[in-house]
Amino acid sequence: MPYETVSGAHELASRLGHSTAAVRAVADQRQFYVPAESLRDMEDIQQKIRHRADFQTSGPRLSAALAVDGSYVVERVRDGLPSVLYGFAQAAAAYLNLAILETQRAERFVDPYEIERAVNTALVTLDLPVAGAYTREGVDIKTSWREAIDQLFRTKKIEVNRLNQTLLELLFLLHGAPGEPAITVPVNCPTEDCSKDVRVPSAGLKCDTCETWLFPTDVLRISEEVSEEGSNQSALGRLMSVVELLVLVGLATLLWEQSRQELLPATLFIVDGPLAMYGPPAKLRGRALDYFQKMSSTTPGAAPFVCGIEKTGVMVDYARQLARHNVLKPGDLLVCDEDIIARVTNASNARAYGKETYWGRKFVYRALDGRVIVPTVMPPHGAPYDAHGGQPDPKDYPTLASILDVVDRTGSSMYADGIIPVAAAHGKAAFPIGVGTDVLRLVATTRLGLDRASYGSNVVR
Ligand SMILES: [Zn+2]
Repeated sequence: MPYETVSGAHELASRLGHSTAAVRAVADQRQFYVPAESLRDMEDIQQKIRHRADFQTSGPRLSAALAVDGSYVVERVRDGLPSVLYGFAQAAAAYLNLAILETQRAERFVDPYEIERAVNTALVTLDLPVAGAYTREGVDIKTSWREAIDQLFRTKKIEVNRLNQTLLELLFLLHGAPGEPAITVPVNCPTEDCSKDVRVPSAGLKCDTCETWLFPTDVLRISEEVSEEGSNQSALGRLMSVVELLVLVGLATLLWEQSRQELLPATLFIVDGPLAMYGPPAKLRGRALDYFQKMSSTTPGAAPFVCGIEKTGVMVDYARQLARHNVLKPGDLLVCDEDIIARVTNASNARAYGKETYWGRKFVYRALDGRVIVPTVMPPHGAPYDAHGGQPDPKDYPTLASILDVVDRTGSSMYADGIIPVAAAHGKAAFPIGVGTDVLRLVATTRLGLDRASYGSNVVR
């Protein structure tokens, strides 16, 4: 995801130009309702604000943060055939020692070189034809995607500290429990008019009704969003968010297996964006909640500490409005119950908001240095959102105090409303713009067999 710098500049800013101004000019003359702009009933809101001092960490402070971030690009790779699109996605993890960060902070100056030294990273990169190009002759685009994802999940590994697992192994792990990967995953046969529910093992299986070969990765249902006509960028985005989740599962499980008493309870795992899964793979939301709750029940204290950090979206806009009007002061936490959700989303059914997508609950926090952060936090028991309003009360989130403490310790003057671990992960995951995309194009061209030259192929593997 693009990261906003302190100047407010956006990485995609160069693509916005006078057309933006034109649309704004039209919008200025129209009447419409923006919930995030409207700050009604301030006294009601005040009653939902808790202070930082109300949350005390029980154990020692966290000493490390591990952030996961991903990004993707789609490139035109054939001259004269602009519909031929090739996609790249990558997810990076950055492990940051907070003690080193604090030494820097004591010197009142954060040296990017020292940050670099404090960070260890892992990276997974994927590439596949996304539109107008296929894995082989004679298959439609949905089948091409299904085959490509199966192949990628079998070959791509997260190689860090003895965690040498493929994405497919991590997918089975997520469908089981820590230390106990599932034997099969539930696939809904993708053949139209069949839709049979089949338990598919790692090797794959033929559907006994329609005889289509089923891949275990069909559980993700990503091909449902793929079409012959579209650019299929959103499907690539879904794939990337699944890979981000699997990286999180892999690294958290690594600490659970190898350092359950020491490193795991001292580390905050941070996902860039909310703890949520959108679109066809949304069922993974329930898997993630179930998996990390099982991990929590077999780990001392409140660990694992897992949170998402949102930088964009309506809740972030609303939070900034509250901060701007000083309704939310440094150290304040806003409890986002049904009533707040109704104000922000304009939803008719705020009570059931989020139950299909989120595996953590949103809070709004204004850090001690004034930054506005929207964390999502996982409850150790039950669902964060459900048909009856879920669990909005901070007392149901024993990890919350430690999470807010890390947020306060990892502010960065380099990024407005950001935190350093996420910025570090983003620095590794982001695709270079400009010159860099030419390199990706070269790689894609080589992959599609259009150019046998070997240059550039070490950039994305
Ligand atoms: Zn079938």
